[in-house]
Amino acid sequence: MLIVGTDAGGVETDLVAGRLACPVCGAGLRPWGHSADREVRQLDAVERRRFRRSICAVCAVTHVLMPEDTLVRRRDSAAVVGAALVAKANGKGHRTIAETLSRPASTVRGWLRRFATMAERLREHFTRWAHAMDPAHDRRSSGGDGFCDAVEAIGVLGLVAVRRFGPRPVWSLASVVTGGGLLANTSALWATPV
Ligand SMILES: [Zn+2]
Repeated sequence: MLIVGTDAGGVETDLVAGRLACPVCGAGLRPWGHSADREVRQLDAVERRRFRRSICAVCAVTHVLMPEDTLVRRRDSAAVVGAALVAKANGKGHRTIAETLSRPASTVRGWLRRFATMAERLREHFTRWAHAMDPAHDRRSSGGDGFCDAVEAIGVLGLVAVRRFGPRPVWSLASVVTGGGLLANTSALWATPV
């Protein structure tokens, strides 16, 4: 699995040219068909998409190319999950959030719980990224609620990244730097800043 941009044409060009690196060994990936049709639930629409699949020319491992607006093993887009996290940080309960987003309460509760269990590591991870993109960035945490601090750290990285690279949806960025694993139960997928 590899997180890629949402511009399918650009991704295809990079894939065919061998510019996408295998996450296992770093060699160039080659086209390898498509995944089955799958649902991506956005804030205001449900899309059906097929994700590009690739195979490594050297180690022969196949990798699904996941657009950065999605998260691993979640049918709801990164922006939907992000909206729920921000609402929670602003003091809303999971039932209210679920109603606002027209999602099952149990689904939203699952996201919030998973994020809460990883909050401290997520805060550190996003803060490290913000510092890597802008060394002048103040690394101090507010020392408040762990959940809110983690959401705030994601927002800060979003601001730092916009200043350096231009506009990009913050929750897509959050997916990129966690390798799609913003709500994964380990940090195994998370990308390290270079
Ligand atoms: Zn490889």
